[in-house]
Amino acid sequence: MTSLYPIAIEPNPAVLAAAERAVLLEDPGFGRVFTDHMITATWTEGKGWHSATLGARRPFTLDPACAVLHYAQEIFEGLKAYRADNGGITLFRPEQNARRMNESARRMAMPEIPEDLFLDAIDALVKADAGWIPGGDGSLYLRPFMFASETFLGVKPASEFIFCVIASPAGSYFKGGKKAVSLWVSDHLNRAGPGGTGAAKCGGNYAASLMAQAEAYEHGCDQVVFLDAVEHRWVDELGGMNIFFLFDDGSMITPPLTGTILPGITRASILELVKRRGIAVAEQPYAIDQWQADAKSGKLREVFACGTAAVLTPIGQVKSKAGDWTIGNGDGGQLTDEIKAELVGIQRGRVEGPAGWVRRVV
Ligand SMILES: *Cc1c(COP(=O)(O)O)cnc(C)c1O
Repeated sequence: MTSLYPIAIEPNPAVLAAAERAVLLEDPGFGRVFTDHMITATWTEGKGWHSATLGARRPFTLDPACAVLHYAQEIFEGLKAYRADNGGITLFRPEQNARRMNESARRMAMPEIPEDLFLDAIDALVKADAGWIPGGDGSLYLRPFMFASETFLGVKPASEFIFCVIASPAGSYFKGGKKAVSLWVSDHLNRAGPGGTGAAKCGGNYAASLMAQAEAYEHGCDQVVFLDAVEHRWVDELGGMNIFFLFDDGSMITPPLTGTILPGITRASILELVKRRGIAVAEQPYAIDQWQADAKSGKLREVFACGTAAVLTPIGQVKSKAGDWTIGNGDGGQLTDEIKAELVGIQRGRVEGPAGWVRRVV
């Protein structure tokens, strides 16, 4: 079948030697090592998407007046390619990333990217750089993104955009493969507010979160948890991960999608998996003072953060201006481990998941 958006293949003539690649893959960490290729495509007003190419990974040349450098019209996605146990390569629900990228695009007044082009681009990059997928429990992190590339300082939606996909082999997201992490409660800095861009996966949300993240480090915490911007009372999410609470009666809560939190694909998948287990899970607001009280009384058993990069990460400790508290024994819990094992098993083709969740690249 011929595609409306064919991808020209221009292989990198100078790929890294296999021996050097093997050294990099021993301990790639997260987001530091990159593969040989990238995908680019351009959108021009009146012409639409064109010039989709798989080529050598290389720097962009941008004019200093390039719109994204001034007004941050930029969105991105994150997903992983896994080496399945039977030797094939799988992607986890990539069409969900395509859909969400277009929701982000609409909110940021950017052009939508045809789902076929998005998926074909990912398949082509994964095939070209398949040798970069680490063995063991590593994966190839894929980063599709789009930015305003027009040279113009006027404030308006740009007339030219670049879509790009890069790939980065990944080991463990948190340094040292540490188990439970600690959170700092941001009670005055907000990441997103009502009517803002909190539900769009845009770089600007991350820029807004970094000062609070720096405060978390100052207080000896790994990550920051944001509260709602109006009452500073309701738990929203972390800087880049959604959050779930598990109680002693077997029930679970995760904050609802009110427009200020990012609709995580991991979050949505966990909701389905725990419902399948018969767990009563509610998308319901949860207050920070309730969190503290439930942790102290023992009603709260486990808390975990979730997202593509770190999958499920147990939360052990919380620090805030109103005091500190520990969840359970401070080192995660059994249900968190079980849900993580199930999700990772589905992603790697070891466990049968709901229909359509796993897409085979080869
Ligand atoms: C990407 C992201 C998540 C997690 O989404 P997944 O689809 O599960 O990877 C959560 N919060 C924020 C702010 C994000 O940017």
